[in-house]
Amino acid sequence: MLIVLHTDVSPAQQAAIEARVRELGFTPHPIEGAGRTAIGITGNKGPIDPGHFRLMEGVAECIPVTAPYKLVSREVKHDDTVVDVAGVPIGGRALVVMAGPCAVESEQQILGAARGVAKSGASLLRGGAFKPRTSPYDFQGLKVRGLELLSKARAETGLKVVTEVKDTETLPAVAEAADLLQIGARNMQNFSLLEAVGDLRKPVLLKRGMSSTIKELLMAAEYIVSRGNKQVILCERGIRTFETMTRNTLDLNAVPMLKAQSHLPVVVDPSHGIGIRSAVLPMARAAVAAGADGLIIEVHPDPDRALSDGMQSLDLPLFAQLMREVEAVARAIGRSLYRMPA
Ligand code: PEP
Ligand code: MN
Repeated sequence: MLIVLHTDVSPAQQAAIEARVRELGFTPHPIEGAGRTAIGITGNKGPIDPGHFRLMEGVAECIPVTAPYKLVSREVKHDDTVVDVAGVPIGGRALVVMAGPCAVESEQQILGAARGVAKSGASLLRGGAFKPRTSPYDFQGLKVRGLELLSKARAETGLKVVTEVKDTETLPAVAEAADLLQIGARNMQNFSLLEAVGDLRKPVLLKRGMSSTIKELLMAAEYIVSRGNKQVILCERGIRTFETMTRNTLDLNAVPMLKAQSHLPVVVDPSHGIGIRSAVLPMARAAVAAGADGLIIEVHPDPDRALSDGMQSLDLPLFAQLMREVEAVARAIGRSLYRMPA
């Protein structure tokens, strides 16, 4: 349920309403809107009777929320959420591009990638330090050394850092190094990990599971937001279908669906979505045309020698071309590309 407050509600009245919510065994979530505040109510004690609140001072109206995902829904918060990633706004008019290798491999590799993508206009550097790999014999990432190299690349280039957190054990170390915590497709329903990042106050990039529905992605986001961490960005990265010619099927349907259902920003990862270097650029253009708030792109200074996902990684000249073309599409739909202040 959503309790909409009067515009002139006093802090004491609001506190009394929130106290009553807690007394009934539920959790209040204040939601600031343009011009009015509302209180979202969540809990697993069954339905809540609006009669408890209707006559309280400061209450304008009580609205039932029909979506199963409550706090991430547009029903509860109409205005777009803009997530602040260390000063970079994601979810506004300007699109944000995150780029870098699948995995951090060496100092030379990550610094080469960081300098190159920064020059072309990326705002965030991506790179996995803890890698969840299908085979235990594949490169597992440089782990803590990888985090150190990401921090070094940030210090040199000013790019913010997005990197994957694989489990709750390594969360403290990854959270210290990252500006944006990536939860990978394989972990979208790792509920302990969702709860753990929900307890932090650090932005999260939540990738859609490869066999997950749009609703399941929103429910996973709800786990994080219901613990108080409102800084969540949704990521479409392709799903498994019967198609075998591409690595996944990039479900661009998800972009307008997620934007309609939720106030959270939506980013698209065409690299994992299609898995073929030459096809990443057209799908990046399509993602922007579909309404994505940003892109995450795998870029490697020497993709044919990459230790993971080389076949879908762009080299630096191709990434520069992607940025030019994506900017043109953004402009055509009345948006722009976010640029880091010099
Ligand atoms: C990645 O970003 O390199 C990655 C492993 O992505 P996903 O979790 O979407 O497979
Ligand atoms: Mn990858």
